[in-house]
Amino acid sequence: MRRGSSLIAQAVAALAVEALLYWRYGDEQARYHWFTHFFVGASLALLLVSSYVAVRGRVPTLVILVPIFGHLCAMFPDVLFELGIAHRRWMDIFLGHISTHFVPGGNITWYAVFAFSLAVCLYAVGTTRATAARE
Ligand SMILES: [Zn+2]
Repeated sequence: MRRGSSLIAQAVAALAVEALLYWRYGDEQARYHWFTHFFVGASLALLLVSSYVAVRGRVPTLVILVPIFGHLCAMFPDVLFELGIAHRRWMDIFLGHISTHFVPGGNITWYAVFAFSLAVCLYAVGTTRATAARE
């Protein structure tokens, strides 16, 4: 599969997964949690992708799916909740699942972190491509 069509396939899969998750969170109160866990998980994933790009000098193959994986890690206690397991403090091992809701500014703060992480990642990818084009 060519690189461009792989990215499109990843983008379609990512949108489908996130749309399904958003729908599953149901009412507005729960959708607030979807945003928190998406911003936290995707931000960490984007920073990890940036580090990978900086160290390896290339973009990972599944670059668009990595933030989705981060989101799935951050929201995993909600899957457990659906299975009847109540939220507990130890669930913070899943990217701060509990305590991320108590950050000053709430989702606005996490959105800012996400925007910053996305900018860092795009800069890293852009720099790598520019370097590769010169070589
Ligand atoms: Zn939760």
